[in-house]
Amino acid sequence: MSTAPGLPDTDAVVVGSGPNGLAAAVRLAQAGHRVTVLEAAATIGGGTRTEELTLPGLLHDVCSAVHPFALASPYLASLPLADHGLVWRWPEIDLAHPLDDGTAGVLVRDLDETCRGLGRDGAAWKGVFGPLMRHFDALADDILGPVVRVPDHPVSMARFGLRAALPATVLARRFRTPQAQALFAGSAAHAFRPLSRPVTASVGVMLTAAGHRHGWPVPEGGSAAISRALASLLTELGGEIVTGHAVRTSADLPKARITMLDTGPQAAAEILGDRLPVRRQRTYRRWRYGPGAFKVDLAVRGGVPWTAEPARRAGTVHVGGTLEQIASAEAAVCRGEMPEAPFILVAQQHLADPTRSVGDVHPVWAYAHVPARWEGDGEKVILDQLERFAPGLRELVVATAVRTPADHEADNANYVGGDIAGGANDLLQLVGRPRLSPDPYATGAPGVWLCSSATPPGAGVHGMCGFRAAERALATTQPPR
Ligand SMILES: Cc1cc2nc3c(=O)[nH]c(=O)nc-3n(C[C@H](O)[C@H](O)[C@H](O)COP(=O)(O)OP(=O)(O)OC[C@H]3O[C@@H](n4cnc5c(N)ncnc54)[C@H](O)[C@@H]3O)c2cc1C
Repeated sequence: MSTAPGLPDTDAVVVGSGPNGLAAAVRLAQAGHRVTVLEAAATIGGGTRTEELTLPGLLHDVCSAVHPFALASPYLASLPLADHGLVWRWPEIDLAHPLDDGTAGVLVRDLDETCRGLGRDGAAWKGVFGPLMRHFDALADDILGPVVRVPDHPVSMARFGLRAALPATVLARRFRTPQAQALFAGSAAHAFRPLSRPVTASVGVMLTAAGHRHGWPVPEGGSAAISRALASLLTELGGEIVTGHAVRTSADLPKARITMLDTGPQAAAEILGDRLPVRRQRTYRRWRYGPGAFKVDLAVRGGVPWTAEPARRAGTVHVGGTLEQIASAEAAVCRGEMPEAPFILVAQQHLADPTRSVGDVHPVWAYAHVPARWEGDGEKVILDQLERFAPGLRELVVATAVRTPADHEADNANYVGGDIAGGANDLLQLVGRPRLSPDPYATGAPGVWLCSSATPPGAGVHGMCGFRAAERALATTQPPR
């Protein structure tokens, strides 16, 4: 491989500075490698960035906002990120799911308190999540890894598997009240899949269990604090980051023994060209992307006037109504149709972290699930749907910033068609991410591994794709001299 002009030879190169790229870089640097990270954008962080998108001083998360998996991540937990400025903040209520009658399903970290709030569904909620909570940390280690392997904790994993394998609609119907059903359905909908399909319960079970173990916290100052802390640690370990350097072909890479690609499989096929075995080229090029996200950041005077009081105290609010309404909206989006009342995720980070606000004007983060590459007026759709549960909101909005599916992709090549999950979460791609193998990270090109959210365990800020890819690289490469 030739050395790109202006870049020195290095032991290891990482393409992309998302949380997975940075986690891979830190792991390789910990093992003594000289690491260079190459980032196409002008700033580091990929899906973990924070900017003043609406008004000066108001800190909006450009992508990720709320981070149960960052705390559940065994690798991130092992790093001294607090020494590099990362401070976690928790809202009073982790998640609220308002309904049309003014009530809400409410999740807090304390399982018993959540169960008490769910009334006659409290026992059923405990029956589903209680057994997972007792060994959650061991379970997280197994869940946040490749599917094709012998789990280290088979009993906990089997318990998880029994619940995770179900369609989300089936698991949700173990609950009787619309509040508990919707509370679970909203978390399951993070998968961007029709909730009637097998295994769609998995994401909801993981998010809910992680919420009861760690809460749904936000980093002080915004999600950029996560990438800043990882980058600072990497620099301390001797690593280097180059921004504004897009890698399009192998010729854009410096000579290195280890190359990590924090990119999608199709981009990896483009970059590596005929260095990839022919069958792998085909597999990577066939990778499928899922629906998109349409995001609106709001500057709201006094905060969102939710009718359901708990939503006024919740860091995250799921908007979409009942289990049936969310299931119908998600099914439509996956068919390529825009529903009138889509599922929307809302974050009110300022409730946990007041440094995000200016006076009584607060940043509010919201995105709707929309069909891939959708080009409609998402701002109106989102505000209409929010007004359903927070009448009068429009009058309090003092500024907005919009990101369409096309904007997401223009900003970050990994978000193809506005898919922020790194690829469709259908059954085949959930187990074979990006291919069915005990080592899904190896590209087949000597010395090159894939480490983005298109590898296990998938989307979310946990760094485990990067960590596990780096572990595979370290296991099969000569140690640094
Ligand atoms: C709107 C939105 C909301 C989200 N909300 C949450 C949330 O609340 N909680 C959560 O846990 N997760 C959330 N996510 C998902 C999370 O951000 C991603 O799953 C995570 O960032 C994936 O990390 P990654 O390192 O695999 O890729 P990314 O974070 O996407 O980073 C990839 C990086 O590689 C760079 N790159 C790509 N190709 C090249 C190339 N050829 N050359 C050089 N550089 C390249 C990109 O510019 C980018 O910086 C959200 C994402 C979005 C977009």
